[in-house]
Amino acid sequence: MMLQRCPECRKKVSESATHCPNCGFSFQAEDLERYKAMLEKRRLHNQEVNRKSARLQLIWLLIFALVIGVAAYWVN
Ligand SMILES: [Zn+2]
Repeated sequence: MMLQRCPECRKKVSESATHCPNCGFSFQAEDLERYKAMLEKRRLHNQEVNRKSARLQLIWLLIFALVIGVAAYWVN
């Protein structure tokens, strides 16, 4: 009997099983496709969030540098 790993809970499941007995994950082709699409969407979303937060950090750094620069100007 062949075993496959459940992508959701990582438990070993018989290859002939249509559902994971542990978490109920479906191994049917269309459900696997949906699962892959969901993972891809999640990955793209995380990428977008990271990009946004990197930009926000850059903006804060610029504001900080500007404040320091203005403060140095007024002190001198
Ligand atoms: Zn599972």
